[in-house]
Amino acid sequence: MGRAYLVEQVEHEGGKPTRTVDLRDLPDASLPDAAVIVDVEYSSINYKDALVLTGKPGVVRSFPMIAGIDLVGVVAASSDPAWTAGDRVALFGDGLSETRYGGLSERAKVRSDALVRVPDHVSSAQAAAIGTAGYTAALAVLALEHGSATSGAVRVGGLPVLVTGAGGGVGSIAIALLAAAGFEVAASTGRVDGLGDALRRLGATSIVDRAEFAEAGRPLGSQRWAGAVDSVGGQTLATVLSQVEYGGTVAACGLAGGSDLPTSVMPFILRGVTLAGVNSVEAPLPLRQAAWERVTTALDLSVLDTLTETVPLAEATDAAERVLAGSVHGRVVVDVR
Ligand code: NDP
Repeated sequence: MGRAYLVEQVEHEGGKPTRTVDLRDLPDASLPDAAVIVDVEYSSINYKDALVLTGKPGVVRSFPMIAGIDLVGVVAASSDPAWTAGDRVALFGDGLSETRYGGLSERAKVRSDALVRVPDHVSSAQAAAIGTAGYTAALAVLALEHGSATSGAVRVGGLPVLVTGAGGGVGSIAIALLAAAGFEVAASTGRVDGLGDALRRLGATSIVDRAEFAEAGRPLGSQRWAGAVDSVGGQTLATVLSQVEYGGTVAACGLAGGSDLPTSVMPFILRGVTLAGVNSVEAPLPLRQAAWERVTTALDLSVLDTLTETVPLAEATDAAERVLAGSVHGRVVVDVR
């Protein structure tokens, strides 16, 4: 038996379905069978979790569902010999809270295919603070460093790399990882006054008001960025693409500002810009492991601690409201124990 955030949907004839999200006591038998049983210690509130916990559509694809796209905990039992009782593990995405029961639950049964080990120098709370946001930021940085056959890698020492949605979880950790790799980092935020100093402490060398990217401009603008990590999408991503230098790469991570992309082919055919897609949910194990290794070794954990707020399980929905209101900076960890 353990507490979990259960999401249910009620269909109404001829009308829109309604959703309920409740913290409930659930028997272990109600969890679908899977290879690894985990005593969950921590989860976190990502943008998707905020949508789910506030009853918004678009994330959960089968009902009932346990919320929480991240989980960190201790293996209680495993039928897969890769894991033994007592191992500290983390699982990010992989359909949690979409098609598989998620991590806002004291007990979880998960498949082993996407589990990663939490290294000794990282606490379980810090692993959750990294969470999908940090692991996605690492995937984005790897994408910039990899480039494509035609654009090559984004190199240290040139123009700055821009991070949009800089005050959010993905953006904040991307700044820290890029700065640690030696890049000059520009941070775009709507909270220049409130967050400017904090973003500089993370490693940003310049702060740009996100309003600069909100209006449609020319198909090609002046070349300002060697590359970018974008959590915003929409017109922001389109404007950023028009300002990336020849051969640069932009990692598209999110849609905090919109899912459309009102761009033209000009950045691609005249500047050889690469738009690299980042999908943390479906990433195969070797890529997960590479991103996890990167974020757990390159990220200064004392800096991560300054970005992290911890709330008890019962306050996860309040935290979700604050994430959607855009008033959170960095990461919200949920203490599930
Ligand atoms: P957060 O809510 O923590 O941060 C999003 C940030 O985007 C905000 O802090 C804000 O930054 C900025 N923002 C919000 N609304 C707008 C707007 N209307 N216009 C411009 N900027 C805006 O979210 P996460 O960092 O957790 O996630 C960011 C995005 O990435 C989300 O869309 C999420 O769904 C997506 N994502 C995708 C993943 C993938 O696998 N591809 C994995 C994880 C997340 P500021 O206040 O500084 O301007």
